[in-house]
Amino acid sequence: MKKIVVIGGGLAGLSAASFLSNAGFKIELLEASPKLGGRAYSFLDNETGAVIDNGQHILMGCYNETLNFFKLIGAEENLTKQSHLSLNFVKQNFELCPLKASGSLYPFNLLSAVFNYSAISFYEKLLFIKFFTKIYLYTDKDLKELTVLEWLLLEKQTANLIKSFWEIFAVSALNTDIKKASAKIFAAVIKKIFFRGNDASAIILPSLGLTEAYCDDALRFINNKEGRFSFSEPVITLNVQDSVIKEIVTTKRVISDFDCVISAIPLYALKKIMTGKNFLPDLEFDYSSILTAHLFLKENRFVNTFYGLIDSPVQWVFNKGTHLTVVISNADNFMGVSQEEIIELILDELNKYILLGRSEISTYKIIKEKRAAFIPSNDILDKRPSVYTPFKNFFLAGDWTDTGLPATIESAVKSGRIAADAVRSL
Ligand SMILES: Cc1cc2nc3c(=O)[nH]c(=O)nc-3n(C[C@H](O)[C@H](O)[C@H](O)COP(=O)(O)OP(=O)(O)OC[C@H]3O[C@@H](n4cnc5c(N)ncnc54)[C@H](O)[C@@H]3O)c2cc1C
Repeated sequence: MKKIVVIGGGLAGLSAASFLSNAGFKIELLEASPKLGGRAYSFLDNETGAVIDNGQHILMGCYNETLNFFKLIGAEENLTKQSHLSLNFVKQNFELCPLKASGSLYPFNLLSAVFNYSAISFYEKLLFIKFFTKIYLYTDKDLKELTVLEWLLLEKQTANLIKSFWEIFAVSALNTDIKKASAKIFAAVIKKIFFRGNDASAIILPSLGLTEAYCDDALRFINNKEGRFSFSEPVITLNVQDSVIKEIVTTKRVISDFDCVISAIPLYALKKIMTGKNFLPDLEFDYSSILTAHLFLKENRFVNTFYGLIDSPVQWVFNKGTHLTVVISNADNFMGVSQEEIIELILDELNKYILLGRSEISTYKIIKEKRAAFIPSNDILDKRPSVYTPFKNFFLAGDWTDTGLPATIESAVKSGRIAADAVRSL
């Protein structure tokens, strides 16, 4: 039985490890922290007794790789799926503007959603639909010259249309300022979500905390196939001989009894363990942040599962029953700001939009994820590396590798599956 060491226990590492375990390989997974999940995990908040996510994670019906992975590890039931796209956008004073694909006759249900969307004028609805009809006229080469904002302006999308749909959608999908993100990767996301049938645009949410939603099942699945996990064991360096990884040096030991190694750690962490090997010398990412605030209410009077806020620094509010989870993507400006100032700003916004009074809050928790996602700018898209490396037994996975997708769960899981396929084809 061939032994594969997977470095990193985020979604990419768990995906690679699960697919390889299933194919009969022996897995040892090394994780630097005491837990699985990487950038997508949950924990028990001692103050409130609630399980909270480090950040709300939204999946979509077009996340085929992720859905396959969840199915493989037996975690499918931990996801709640919409039957078709249904978003509750809200303007100030709790003016609800649903964007809802009623009925299942694709694509007419999406068209009717646009025509019933009250946040934009009739003229803007026509511009919006025109944008979609022209997407396939743009080549990758055209789009690589444009940022998302430049593309939207070229297609005469109005300021209100950008604020009422494009900005919230693009910032959530790419976690990047629309002035920086590549139009090419944005077009790929739009095609995946809106041009692949009815299910693709439906929102999927984990129905449990993230750790319970997939980490526990992945752990069980891999353990049942005789895989092994080592926690709190960061890899420090990889020793190479004749273009082959010979030893993995961790903080606890030197490992040499393996056939292949998969790195499923972020680029900045990989560069550290590859110091002195001139590995990916031309690749550096800029990152953007996500801020999540969990607000515990004395009484929860909200009925919808989530709201998208139009023209606000706060993009989404999720109703988790026990609490509200407030999401600010592209949140670099908030990273140096105190918790008190952030909560003031959030409460001001929520008061304006969903009429939430300060006195309704019992306590709150703010989580800042500084390097939540790499910025998918035109400069770096072609530099994302494939699964292969100059070392014969060493493969790359991670949401940042060349999956054609932005830094998402789907990209991470896809990269893990690709790495597993590369090992299997040896
Ligand atoms: C707040 C937030 C909200 C998000 N929301 C969404 C969303 O709504 N939808 C969506 O699709 N995506 C979302 N994402 C993105 C998604 O979480 C990531 O794309 C995905 O989790 C990345 O997985 P990964 O396995 O590639 O990397 P990571 O999750 O970063 O995993 C890497 C793992 O490697 C470990 N590691 C690092 N160095 C070493 C070492 N030397 N030795 C051993 N182990 C090491 C780390 O501890 C970590 O566990 C969000 C991200 C954040 C932070």
